[in-house]
Amino acid sequence: MQTTNEIRRSFLDYFASNGHEAVQSAPLVPYNDPTLMFVNAGMVPFKNVFTGLETRSVPRATSSQKCVRAGGKHNDLDNVGYTARHHTFFEMLGNFSFGDYFKEQAITNAWNLLTKEWALPVEKLLVTVYHTDDEAFDLWKKIAGLPESKIIRIPTKDNFWAMGDEGPCGPCSEIFFDHGDHIWGGPPGSPEEDGDRFIEIWNLVFMQFEQSAGEIVGNLPKPSIDTGMGLERVSAVMQGVHDNYDIDTFKALIAASESLTGVAAQGDSRASHRVIADHLRSTSFLLADGVLPSNEGRGYVLRRIMRRAMRHAHLLGARDPLMHRLVPALVAEMGQAYPELGRAQPLIEETLEREEVQFRRTLSNGIKLLDEATADLGEGGELPGETAFKLYDTFGFPYDLTEDALRSRGIAVDKAGFDAAMAQQKAAARAAWKGSGQAADSEVWFDIAEREGAGEFTGYTSTSGEGRV
Ligand code: ATP
Ligand code: MG
Ligand code: MG
Ligand code: MG
Repeated sequence: MQTTNEIRRSFLDYFASNGHEAVQSAPLVPYNDPTLMFVNAGMVPFKNVFTGLETRSVPRATSSQKCVRAGGKHNDLDNVGYTARHHTFFEMLGNFSFGDYFKEQAITNAWNLLTKEWALPVEKLLVTVYHTDDEAFDLWKKIAGLPESKIIRIPTKDNFWAMGDEGPCGPCSEIFFDHGDHIWGGPPGSPEEDGDRFIEIWNLVFMQFEQSAGEIVGNLPKPSIDTGMGLERVSAVMQGVHDNYDIDTFKALIAASESLTGVAAQGDSRASHRVIADHLRSTSFLLADGVLPSNEGRGYVLRRIMRRAMRHAHLLGARDPLMHRLVPALVAEMGQAYPELGRAQPLIEETLEREEVQFRRTLSNGIKLLDEATADLGEGGELPGETAFKLYDTFGFPYDLTEDALRSRGIAVDKAGFDAAMAQQKAAARAAWKGSGQAADSEVWFDIAEREGAGEFTGYTSTSGEGRV
């Protein structure tokens, strides 16, 4: 069996031997795009190369890029623990052509890697193309010899990528693996496509058009290629398991949390262990890249993820802070590929421990309040918005944590009521503010707090520059 570390290496070596320059993962905080919360795709660090603002000496690159999708347009936070294939932190393997090779070479490379180098069973693979992209359809037939029934034309934006309203765009082609009919789900384009039977492993983006004001205005002089494959998903396939959480990396992390809590990852506890393992990765990598927990912006997203994991640790019965004690297991698994983890280990451990100590002071009282408030609610019930707000305001429960806590019982949260309570508190704070008589300044402060949300930061939801490879 190939380990996840070996699979990453094998991907990078394959493309390096095909003339690609192997490039280190960029940090999770984008240096070239203040509108983007976190790097969420392999192409993000290369955006300026694709638009022509920057050039590189080698027109081909390959990387394994750290990605976080826990805010903004791509928010997979709520999926974690509940689907087999979503993480908040994952690695995106990619190969890129900057005006060099195009569709035919990209499809050939991808198919050879999957079916020859890695010897995946051809009969389990199927692909999608954008409905008008006859060229890609024909290439899949020619290169892969796939029957037409396994080249599915998709008419939605899922198979059309754009950098924003301006710049390069083009159709994509996604490669799926069929994990078998014992798992619920249907092929892409079918009503059951969100199930976990057919799992998207690789997305090939063919940048060939130029957009202006959201309209295609012509062909790019030099078409380019951007691809993204989830390392954890392809590891699952290659290690013969269905679920990302059953690959070697996650097994090691879950074993560590089982041993520290003394609770097996079975039944109700399984999702908790998974959430903990996933969130351990995202929080540790964010801390290593310089994000610190705070009440706004990127730091608040980090804090939300941490607290969610910490509630699950509490749920498993952990008496003392747990997260920081799992860091050594993570460094053992991933520290070689990402030396910044080892370098930041003391900072990561200290920060996680401090946050967990602090959150635990109010956590059990918050849970008590939540239990009382929902005692009479059954499936289909709704927690009043004011209670969710009190949990946020008094006990430090981020909104999504409350939602997550009630999800398994089928209880929803009144979001509008929560927002209204939040708005009311802000208005009250503003009215109470006498300040120093410098009314202008305080106005400005409250305006900013209002716009950005003093608690929940949602301001980075931009479409520009979010690479949805
Ligand atoms: P899905 O439809 O399964 O949510 P996606 O279409 O949003 O995936 P892309 O934006 O195309 O994903 O990203 C490229 C690849 O990255 C995907 O084919 C998948 O292998 C991987 N990937 C995307 N999101 C995640 C995630 N949250 N966790 C793990 N891997 C992911
Ligand atoms: Mg997605
Ligand atoms: Mg998809
Ligand atoms: Mg995709």
